[in-house]
Amino acid sequence: MDGTAGRAAGRPVDDALDRSRLGPGLYVHIPFCARKCWYCDFTAYHHRPGRASRYVDDLMAEIRLYAADDAFASVTFRTLFFGGGTPSLLEPGDFCRLMACLRSSFRLDPGAEVTLEANPEDLRQDRLEAWLEAGVNRLSIGAQAAQDRLLAAAGRVHDWRAVEVGYRRARQAGFANIGLDLIFGLPGQTRDDWRETLERVLALAPGPPEHLSCYGLQVEEGTLYGRWRREGRLRLPAEEDEAAMYRHAVERLAAAGYEHYEISNFARPGFRSRHNLNYWADGDFLGLGAGAWSHWHGRRWGNQRFLGPYARALAEGRRPVAEVDEPPLKTRMADALMLGTRLVEGMPAAWFVERFGQTPEEAFGPQLADLAGRGLLERAGGRIRLTRRGLLLANEVWAALL
Ligand code: SF4
Repeated sequence: MDGTAGRAAGRPVDDALDRSRLGPGLYVHIPFCARKCWYCDFTAYHHRPGRASRYVDDLMAEIRLYAADDAFASVTFRTLFFGGGTPSLLEPGDFCRLMACLRSSFRLDPGAEVTLEANPEDLRQDRLEAWLEAGVNRLSIGAQAAQDRLLAAAGRVHDWRAVEVGYRRARQAGFANIGLDLIFGLPGQTRDDWRETLERVLALAPGPPEHLSCYGLQVEEGTLYGRWRREGRLRLPAEEDEAAMYRHAVERLAAAGYEHYEISNFARPGFRSRHNLNYWADGDFLGLGAGAWSHWHGRRWGNQRFLGPYARALAEGRRPVAEVDEPPLKTRMADALMLGTRLVEGMPAAWFVERFGQTPEEAFGPQLADLAGRGLLERAGGRIRLTRRGLLLANEVWAALL
């Protein structure tokens, strides 16, 4: 078990949401995939080992640039997250030298949560052992659905059997903190499919995952699904079916002992994602890699998304930053409130006061009163939170703050 996550078990919510203990976080982006999924709008490159090795060289150059800056070298990072893309595609040798570079360049808390996003087909013995050896203590597996026809219709490269086999191997290798990502609202998905997906996930051997993310499908322009929607060829479940799937997840997972702690996220006690909690707490994080975003002391910046400009900047000894965003105070306050109210228990109002020197009511009094009057938002126990209805209409709530 990830020792630190384990120590969080049974802690009262206020303690688990102690903002000063969440961050800062370190995010490393690996933009390669075996194949593009049909719903995905991330910038992802077709994976080739040589190309990925050169990218790791570039990442290490970026790491050293930031490590030469005392603002980053002097802090202790509490979480490290390898996201993508598909980080599990990296060859073990490339992953280990990347990890060694991170460890020798930055201070990583000895109890840090270290997460790797993995696709089921990459959960092979050699890789699992290399990840554990390098210090990864949490896996986030993209499972998505338990029906092979739905996986195939989403452009996924694996079937459900690969999820079962890979998951069992990960457990046997020694991973004691595993999360699965699932999607509801897929084309052709029925309420029964979704129920069956949850049942199969809960029945995974040798025991169910510690964490589940259940995302409603978003159809984005620029994806194959987006094109099919324009052409009238995308057959999505009805809105009421999608809402029923979400409600079923909330009820079924609560009955199975999971805490519903964020709109889309469920965890066994003590296994909330600390890296993501820091995002929702509007905390500081440093993002490395092509297309990665950073947030540090109210300033945000995004890296070059494409590999060419990213590598060129580093070859010239420059940080590969493409855009800097220094939003006005009101926008930063609205963003903090939107992020914090993603938490089902609500955002401690103290977070807001600590950050901005005023209460949420002083900043957004009329909007909060209106939303409370409509039964979408409430104040309870020093926190501001979405009501059950507000959870289903979260986008409407947040639009009112902008
Ligand atoms: S594996 Fe993940 S990042 Fe890659 S295309 Fe599929 S959904 Fe997108």
